[in-house]
Amino acid sequence: MSSAGISTQHLGNFALDSGAERASDTTLTTVKVYTRHNRNCPKLDRSDWARCNCMKWLYIYRDGKYKLVSAKTRSWEKARQKASELRDSFDPVKQLQRQLEAKAQKRQVELAAAVENFLQETARLNLAEATRAKYTPTLNRLSEWCAAQHEPITFLAQLDVATLRRWIQTRVGEPTTRHNQHQRVITFFFFCIEQGWVTENPAKKIKKVTAEQDETLPFTREQFDALIEATHFYDSRDPKKASDTVNSRRARAYLKLLRWEWPAWPQQAPEGHSRQQVLRAALRDGGSTPSLAPILSMA
Ligand SMILES: [Zn+2]
Repeated sequence: MSSAGISTQHLGNFALDSGAERASDTTLTTVKVYTRHNRNCPKLDRSDWARCNCMKWLYIYRDGKYKLVSAKTRSWEKARQKASELRDSFDPVKQLQRQLEAKAQKRQVELAAAVENFLQETARLNLAEATRAKYTPTLNRLSEWCAAQHEPITFLAQLDVATLRRWIQTRVGEPTTRHNQHQRVITFFFFCIEQGWVTENPAKKIKKVTAEQDETLPFTREQFDALIEATHFYDSRDPKKASDTVNSRRARAYLKLLRWEWPAWPQQAPEGHSRQQVLRAALRDGGSTPSLAPILSMA
């Protein structure tokens, strides 16, 4: 039997009661179960009768129109389940959620898709251009490494703690660079958790290198050495002690202090002194304060 051309009389006085009343309401969606009885069923006139063995059908009212489709079961309960699934499938929000949930359950969210989505999101959220620009190379390097593995890593869920640690161990460069890369991957995985694609953050479970004691000046070692070298010559009022004037020592001390990030200092700096106070002291006495010596020797 096909649903086309079936008279609404088959529904008895049950299924159409609400549908008929609101037939003009195109926003309303209704899915109801009814029974299409055999001719000899004693409950022939009760379309809402659930407990006979006759076929169960669905009355679907949507976009101002109705249709009748077989639920392909004799069980009222199974038909109700189908009705519920159908109702959810009409809801676009639930539909998207289910697709992603299904993918997440099957561990099928691709790393490449997740990265792309994350980068789109950083753009949408108007993160500073400089911040966004740093995520791209970090996540691209991760993707490239994954693709280059003997057994390529395609899915996000394959990036467990052990695998991710292997990648992190391949990273080279200054501690702060590695620290920041690690932090970006942690942020990426938090995004993935929020999306329901993974349940835990493998990057968070790996200890980060400490970022302290890294250079803060954008100079290469050679450039920095040249600057220090220059301090020995720039104050030429007394050529005999050019490299040992107060101004010369001051400039040297200041450059050396600026080279290092503040967190590296407190162990060496005079107790309770701020970065500013230490810098001021360096300028005042040209780096001759004994307590500054350990900091200056770092450069
Ligand atoms: Zn029946």
